[in-house]
Amino acid sequence: MMVIIFMALIISILVLIPLFMTIPVTFASDDTIDVLIGKNLREVTVSGVDLQRKLYASKNVWLLSKKIKNELNQNVKAIRFKCHGGNRSNRAKGRQSGALAKGKQNILALITSPSKILTWNRERYKGDFLVIGTNKQGRCDLVNRVSIEHYISVILPKEMHASWPIEALKAQAVASRSYAFYKMRSRVRGFQENENITFFDIENSERHQVSGSLLDETSNTASAAKNTAGEVLSFKGKKFVPIYFHAKCGGSTLLPEDVWEKGANDKNTLGYHRVDCPFCQGKGVEIWKLELNKKDFYPLVSQILKSKGTTKRVAKGVAGTSGVDFSPDKMRPDNINIKIITNKIDSTSVDFILQNRKKHTTHLFSVKKSFIRKYWGYDKVYSNRFIIENGDGRGNNNKLTLKGSGKGHGVGLCQMGALELAKRGWSYSQILKYYFPEHVIVNYSQL
Ligand SMILES: [Zn+2]
Repeated sequence: MMVIIFMALIISILVLIPLFMTIPVTFASDDTIDVLIGKNLREVTVSGVDLQRKLYASKNVWLLSKKIKNELNQNVKAIRFKCHGGNRSNRAKGRQSGALAKGKQNILALITSPSKILTWNRERYKGDFLVIGTNKQGRCDLVNRVSIEHYISVILPKEMHASWPIEALKAQAVASRSYAFYKMRSRVRGFQENENITFFDIENSERHQVSGSLLDETSNTASAAKNTAGEVLSFKGKKFVPIYFHAKCGGSTLLPEDVWEKGANDKNTLGYHRVDCPFCQGKGVEIWKLELNKKDFYPLVSQILKSKGTTKRVAKGVAGTSGVDFSPDKMRPDNINIKIITNKIDSTSVDFILQNRKKHTTHLFSVKKSFIRKYWGYDKVYSNRFIIENGDGRGNNNKLTLKGSGKGHGVGLCQMGALELAKRGWSYSQILKYYFPEHVIVNYSQL
């Protein structure tokens, strides 16, 4: 009986939507942010109380069932979108959904509830949902449009820990809000004909910020957001600057240009300093190690040589320098020998020489550690602060070992350092001043 009642309550609306339409975009206002929470979905089922949906594709929408269509304004508990529109007979008539042209996306629907609480994938979210048609055939993305302050309060437990001291959480709240505003302001908004347009400000992922669902909010994180509401870091009156943070610097923070190629030419990233940080010591993993086969280094070197922006050819004719050597006879049939010569933990790049034994030439190259980190993966090379050692420490010289400290890119706020400083009684504004000496806290409404 319960099952029947439950089934009766769940009214699924199947909508088959071809992805060919052109519609204006709905803009998020200053105090809401669009967060990408689901990617490449085959279908989207949203549940909630008295759900309403606005379709943006009226003339192309093909409703599967008239009966369901008539029930649209009733007590709708669930809405289901099939992103892979078109059944077999439909396809036979040539009405299948098609992929949008490369780089193009499209809002298909807005789903709202008067309660402002929606459930997707067994997680509850505040705000509204946007279903986005993507350029991948038959796939949708799901975007959560939510107030910026709620967004901040649910990302804090993911970025830090809800039980951390309130001043550390407040420092993170200001950093996260600054980052979010920068992403909101630099997003290309407009019509779908613009190939660069995206329908979200920020991704719920390690790539941007890791956000959570409604249940992740605690009174501690909510008050950290509330007590810093609207506050962002700004640099010399510049409207929106990217503010970066990471888990643990491991001894000293880095500059944006130490890590990202565009950093050096990006006026927005001015004002960063390398800051000594002994505060994160003893927190989390102290030393991480990664063993690699030397022969696995060769494809990386080929990549390095191809990537012009990353690699600097710094000198010619360097000889007799000691360093981590690769056996040329076993490893390189083409008579090229590679020797890594810079091995300082504080250095943001690795220098190596290429010796061509046949042509008797030697060149010195320099590559950013961040390039090496990206190549092997952020889950293997935890930070941009490492040295490269010969062998595996057990006598196997066909291997080399990356040994480092810290976790994350190392730019801006060191979260473990902020934790320690908050424990020592520093306020969030003192913590931010330490890691961002030239940036000032302002309310974004002043910008
Ligand atoms: Zn640190």
